[in-house]
Amino acid sequence: MVASPAILDVAVTTAALSNAEVVALDRANVFHSWSAQKALNPLAIAGGSGSTVWDHDGNSYLDFSSQLVNTNIGHQHPKVIAAIARQATSLATVAPAAANHVRATAAAKILSHAPSNMDRVFFTNGGADANENAIRMARLHTGRDKVISRYRSYHGNTGAAIAATGDWRRIPNEYSRGHVHVFGPYLYRSEFWSQSPEQETERALHHLRRVIEAEGSQSVAAVLLETVPGTAGILVPTPGYLEGVRELCDEYGIVMILDEVMAGFGRTGDWFAFDAFNVTPDLITFAKGVNSGYIPVGGVVISGEIAATFDERVFPGGLTYSGHPIAAASIVASIEAFEEEDIVGNAARMGRDHLDPGLLALAEKHQVIGEVRGRGVFWALELVQDRETRTPVTAEYMGRIKAELFGRGLLPFIADNRIHVVPPAVVTAEEVAHALRIYDEALTATTI
Ligand code: PLP
Repeated sequence: MVASPAILDVAVTTAALSNAEVVALDRANVFHSWSAQKALNPLAIAGGSGSTVWDHDGNSYLDFSSQLVNTNIGHQHPKVIAAIARQATSLATVAPAAANHVRATAAAKILSHAPSNMDRVFFTNGGADANENAIRMARLHTGRDKVISRYRSYHGNTGAAIAATGDWRRIPNEYSRGHVHVFGPYLYRSEFWSQSPEQETERALHHLRRVIEAEGSQSVAAVLLETVPGTAGILVPTPGYLEGVRELCDEYGIVMILDEVMAGFGRTGDWFAFDAFNVTPDLITFAKGVNSGYIPVGGVVISGEIAATFDERVFPGGLTYSGHPIAAASIVASIEAFEEEDIVGNAARMGRDHLDPGLLALAEKHQVIGEVRGRGVFWALELVQDRETRTPVTAEYMGRIKAELFGRGLLPFIADNRIHVVPPAVVTAEEVAHALRIYDEALTATTI
């Protein structure tokens, strides 16, 4: 059933529509993710360019959410849009079993930025099914069942990916077996009573070792971690943690899967977030930033050793749209643009020279900021009622700060008691300065 306004020719009418009309059409027809539907009042977005989006009523916003932390290359990058149009004109779809030049080139491009032990790419439709298939590969490769992942993590909403997730979204969806969770390093709210990063690393690794032993190391197929847990709060691992996980995996013959769906492709100021650590995983999952979500796609980068498991043996997994040519074309163009325009370097510089000092200056001024953490264009401000007790601010406070940011023309990413400062990797110094002024004003205007 279509409510007012009636469906019209989108190309002709989009410019003439109002926000209210678009929201009415949405509310009458669209079922949204992760929401009770009735009270929803979504923002109407009509267009975008670079770090800016606009609605139908003439308002524009600095997009410091990167939508769902995925538009790493910004909105409407001309090179990627042209590649999509070109591919749509020449071959809009092809079976997964076919050899296709643009698909093979996309895989080669991804591998050219991956560690040298990586050998093949399996393409999926997004991040969840990337994790789903990485878990499948690890289970078949090891002949073991269990997967250890972190509380405070998100891995996607399919069967094993949601059971691997370490937040509330797992609880109503737990129908995949063999998942075990551990606490990881998060010094600001340490589960281990740690006073220093060194203690946090040592104790988190001891905890992981004990869980592996208690679960039976011979039954553990994989440790699956977001390199930098994103939605859970941009929890940059304490020094030595990931390296220690690698050692434990080697000791017990466990596959190490790093989920780079949110953290990869420039977000942290590196091609892969783990490049900043001395660690090489066995499987890497990716999606979002690989093509900034212009076309849905994800995948698994597979080590030579694990790929060889399926040389003679059938890999029992597949997808109709695995390596879809339009998605592949957008990956190739996106990675080329990253290389030509030094977009990863830009993310690193924006983080180091602008966001890091700018956000720390905000924390000096605003008592409500309990901790600033992150790197590249991947930052969190953790907001607390009291710096001593670290009691999180209320959801009501977060609602008010969101409205203040929005009213000043900034599209924020809000999660629990945190503002995630996650602009596109192409963001400019001027845009960062503008955003910092808006955060400052909004924090000043919002009292606890
Ligand atoms: N893994 C991580 C770290 C994510 O942040 C997400 C989505 O936010 C996913 C997996 C799931 O990706 P998708 O929504 O494309 O299935």
